[in-house]
Amino acid sequence: MTKERKTYHCQQCEKEIYYEGLCWLCRAKQKRKDGLAMTNEDVAYKQKYVISHLDELDKFEDPAYSYFWDCLSYQNVVSEELQQAALDRKMYIPAELYCYAPEHIRDELINRLNQCTNRLEGSYLMSCLAMQGDDMSLEAIYQIKKEGRPWLEDLYAGPEIYAYSGNWSFDENGKRFETGYSKCYEIDDDKDNDNTDKAVITAKVREEKCPHCGSSLIEPISIDCDDERFSFIGAKGRIRAVCCPGCVGFTESAFSSYFDDGTASADLPYEGVADYGFCTEEQDLKEAEEKGAKLRLREVPPFFGAEDWEAATIGGFAHWIQDVQILNCPCCQKPMKYLAQLPWDNFLNGMCEGTLYIEICTNCKKFGMVHQQT
Ligand SMILES: [Zn+2]
Ligand SMILES: [Zn+2]
Ligand SMILES: [Zn+2]
Repeated sequence: MTKERKTYHCQQCEKEIYYEGLCWLCRAKQKRKDGLAMTNEDVAYKQKYVISHLDELDKFEDPAYSYFWDCLSYQNVVSEELQQAALDRKMYIPAELYCYAPEHIRDELINRLNQCTNRLEGSYLMSCLAMQGDDMSLEAIYQIKKEGRPWLEDLYAGPEIYAYSGNWSFDENGKRFETGYSKCYEIDDDKDNDNTDKAVITAKVREEKCPHCGSSLIEPISIDCDDERFSFIGAKGRIRAVCCPGCVGFTESAFSSYFDDGTASADLPYEGVADYGFCTEEQDLKEAEEKGAKLRLREVPPFFGAEDWEAATIGGFAHWIQDVQILNCPCCQKPMKYLAQLPWDNFLNGMCEGTLYIEICTNCKKFGMVHQQT
């Protein structure tokens, strides 16, 4: 005997749900709004709470966890007091604890890294220094790379890869380069408003078809770089990423090219994708396109989308569902820069689970795309 589940409607967007109140997406929106509206007193209270509940910082369901991220994501704050308390306890997770850490805290992290003898601690400390991210942190991680350490051999990735989590890395001479941008914009849909922002458009459907599955290709994102807000990207005109919405999740990495005249093309075929003929529903594409043509943008702190499963952002730090994955540009072979994250269920009409991460090499005019899910 099956029992009918009672249904309700989200009090905000009227989507059908199985409980009273707001749907998951509307609740997440409310949380961001509340976070951005926090007062200095709210921040001070939450920092104090985290300090006295450090043990709970890694427990998703505990207040300490969300308080820490509220302060960092929405107010860009980690207090020195909290950093000192974490350092005293040898706490290295999340590495974001050490964002903006002052010299004396950084120096102690470096000191510990230099004396470190085990793989796990070494990798944690490098991640913390990646988040701190100043030139001394770079020097410390570079020295580890240059001199080598017995524990390094057991790591899956070199020290320069650990720096990616801080949106930077270094070349073989220890010279810094960025693998991301510090400016950050939230992309939100705004279907009730006709006066929407056209600087960014998501999920535009193109005429070309995918050679693997026959689906229409899409521009998961296009950005008008002549708009002053996006001058930080360092490109000109409207730049368009192009991919197959159905196949991008089945290849290690997808690339596309953009050109000075505003056109673009996907680099197809994709590696490792078999031709299987299940194309994405045209109706889903249409709905995502309609939503993606009516967006609202707001500038937010760099970690705004760093611990949020549903936030679509340009710039700042990504919420990597798996490990940080910075692609090498297919032309110059140098690491690309992380540019944007688009959760599928929010922006691409649930065609997939997970998130599409978009990266760029402005020198070679290439986009790279990576799909991750749990
Ligand atoms: Zn809702
Ligand atoms: Zn396809
Ligand atoms: Zn390149």
